[in-house]
This record gives sequence, structure tokens and C-alpha cells, in this order.
Amino acid sequence: MSSREACVAADQTDPLRPFRDLFDLPPGVIYLDGNSLGALPKAAVERAASVVTVEWGRDLIGSWNTHDWFALPTRIGDKIAQLIGGTPGSCVATDTTSINVFKALAAALGIQREDAPARRVIVSEQENFPSDLYIIEGIIGMLGHPDGRPYELRLIDDEHPLADALDDDVAVVLLTGVNYRTGAWWDMDATTAEIHAAGALAVWDLCHSIGAVPVDVTAADADFAVGCTYKYLNGGPGSPAFVWVSPKHAARAKQPLSGWWGHARPFEMAVGYDPAPGAASFLVGTQPIVSLATMEVGIDIALSADGQQLRSKSLALTDLFIELVETRLAGHPLTLITPRAHADRGSHVSFLHPEGYAVMQALIARGVIGDYREPHVLRFGITPLYLGFADVWDAVESLRTVLDEELWRAPEFQVRGAVT
Ligand SMILES: *Cc1c(COP(=O)(O)O)cnc(C)c1O
Repeated sequence: MSSREACVAADQTDPLRPFRDLFDLPPGVIYLDGNSLGALPKAAVERAASVVTVEWGRDLIGSWNTHDWFALPTRIGDKIAQLIGGTPGSCVATDTTSINVFKALAAALGIQREDAPARRVIVSEQENFPSDLYIIEGIIGMLGHPDGRPYELRLIDDEHPLADALDDDVAVVLLTGVNYRTGAWWDMDATTAEIHAAGALAVWDLCHSIGAVPVDVTAADADFAVGCTYKYLNGGPGSPAFVWVSPKHAARAKQPLSGWWGHARPFEMAVGYDPAPGAASFLVGTQPIVSLATMEVGIDIALSADGQQLRSKSLALTDLFIELVETRLAGHPLTLITPRAHADRGSHVSFLHPEGYAVMQALIARGVIGDYREPHVLRFGITPLYLGFADVWDAVESLRTVLDEELWRAPEFQVRGAVT
């Protein structure tokens, strides 16, 4: 599209256009950070108010039954399962992604300790979201040196591909479906098959995948999956994450945080732990009810959107973003680090710029909200539910102004906040 008019016309025929009205975005803002914190669904305001004032305030403790609080993590888990191709009962909404990485990885390692105890290597990506790597480090430290041989982390990168890392020592591979920095997208089916062929189990982190790209954990034959809901699912700040357990492992998957909520009969108050089967045993303790109830609104919106339409629009918008930056901002030192091939791209676009941090602050000051990631990465989340073609045009024009007029040189844009 070579004009703003063409973008406006494309918006008018966009079948997803009505979804934009379900979200409350401040006027004058183009929000390109839905991959980090999704926008506020209008209906979530009322839902949050009613869970606080009616369910908590008026009905008090009776709400565990009368408002079905106790079923929230599994009921919402079933909805998330639908979004990722899982079956009912295979997924729960709970805790954070980091904690769910811990539980899923520990359960996968537990299965391998029974089936293939000699396997002591966990493979992950150098470029993974750091928390995933930190959790692996923690697990390795906790497991110590069984029979003198420690577990170890083996990291893959462009020079050390997965195929080279897979051998008879590998127990589990933890990969992130869409890379948080570059937007590169793994082929989940082929990669899971490759991992299984090497005798390892596959744990997938779907944080930047769910709601952004098609996911089918069943078709991929994945073993475990985790992800968050406050990004493309618009669940709200700190909304609970999810963990999916393949039904084939339901009887054997044991996670070590054996809390009361994961017990098969939690209200028996038994002295010994007897885990509920499958994903239900991944619930640990009392859940954040207000957050859970509020986030269901965003998940219902995602469920009501057509997955094919979302993917087509996401690709059209990311294609347009790349094309406009490369044609209208040519001459500026911007380097695309997101894959161009559709099969390899998630739903955000990232460019390197030597003054990336200041450029992003200057852009945010003009109402175009993207984010910055070390080193030098300008990251733009493209959420097809509430962004249009004209938004992409306007965002790129703002970026052009910031760069042409060197607005980023202003001293206030050089100062780093606590959160970048
Ligand atoms: C956002 C993100 C997380 C976040 O983890 P929290 O525990 O929810 O803070 C984890 N992994 C990946 C790949 C992410 O993109």
C-alpha cells in the first residue's frame, strides 16, 4: 500500500474491524505493545467491578461456590486449551509463565528420569527469554549431581543449531514458539518431531504465540506447553499464565510444587499428597480470583475471533510495516531482524537502530507506543484485533518524523526508566 488512502480503504473492508470497538484505547494513541501488555477490553472493567463489589464485597466467602470461583482455573484453562488445540482438562490457568516453566520442566525431567535416566542435558536457546533460562539454571542447581553426574544446560543459536545439539544425553528441549526479540517463529510440528526422534521431550513456551499465530499442540504432538495471557490475550497486567500437559503424560506428569489445590481431593485435608490427574495437579495454592475472573473477558474475545482471519491480517500488517519502513525511511540506519518469510514470522516486527532506546522514547512521546529491548532493538507488536492499516501508516510516519528531525536527540529521551 503506497498511500494512507489505500490503508483507510483496507480498514473499511477488514472483517476484524468490529473487534476494535471491544477495546478501550486512549484517543491519539497507536498501541504497538500488545505483545507485552494487551489493551483493556471494555467489558473487563465491568467484570472486574462486579467480581470485587458483588462477588467479594457482598457475597463474601460463599462466592467460592455461588460464583464458582473454585472452577475458574480449570474452566478458563479449557478455553485456553481451545485456543491452542488442546482437549478439555489438559490445561489450567494459574501462576506465572516462569513458575509454569519450572513445573512443566520438572515434570518432563521426572518422566525422563524413569524412562531414560542417563539423559542429563536440557537444551534451550541462547536467545530465549531470560526467565526461561534462569528457571533451567535453578532446576539444575536443585537437582544437584545424581550419581555424580550433574544436569547441564546446552544452548543453541545460529551457529549451533538444534540438530547438532540433539544426542543421547538430551532429556528435554525447552523452546519459545515466537522469539520475544526478533519475532522468529519455530515450526512447532517439525521441530517437535525432530526432538522426539532424538528421544527427548518438548516443552514449548507460547508467550508470544498464543493469540498471535496458529498453535496446535495436539497436531504438533507436544509434551508440555506454557504461556502468558497478558500479551495477545489481553488478560490484564499480571494475569495468570497457563500450563498445558499432553493427555499422554496425564497419568505420569508430576510437578514438585505439590500444594493443596493440586490434590485429587483438596477438601479431605488428608495428610499425604495424592495428585489430581494431569493438568489439575499443576494448580498449587489459592488462585488470584480477581485477575482470573477479569482475564476471562480477553480470552472470550480471542475465542470469538477467526484464527485464519487473525493470521492473514497479522501478516498483512507486518508486511506493510516492513515495506513502509524500508521504502519511506530508507537512508536511516534501521536493520530488520524479523524474518521476512511468512512461515518464520510471528506477529511483531523488530528493527535495530544504534540509538534505539532514545528513538523509542521520542516515538512514545508522540503517541506511538512500541517498546525497546536490549541491544538496540525497536520492537513493534502488531495485534490484528485492534490495529488497522492506517494505524501502521501513521506509526511509520511518526517514526519518520522522529528520525528525519532527529527528535530523539532531546535529553529527556536519553534517561532510562526502571522498566524499559
Ligand atoms: C513474557 C514472557 C515470559 C514472562 O514470564 P512471567 O513469568 O509471566 O513474567 C516468559 N517467557 C517468555 C518467552 C515471554 O515472552
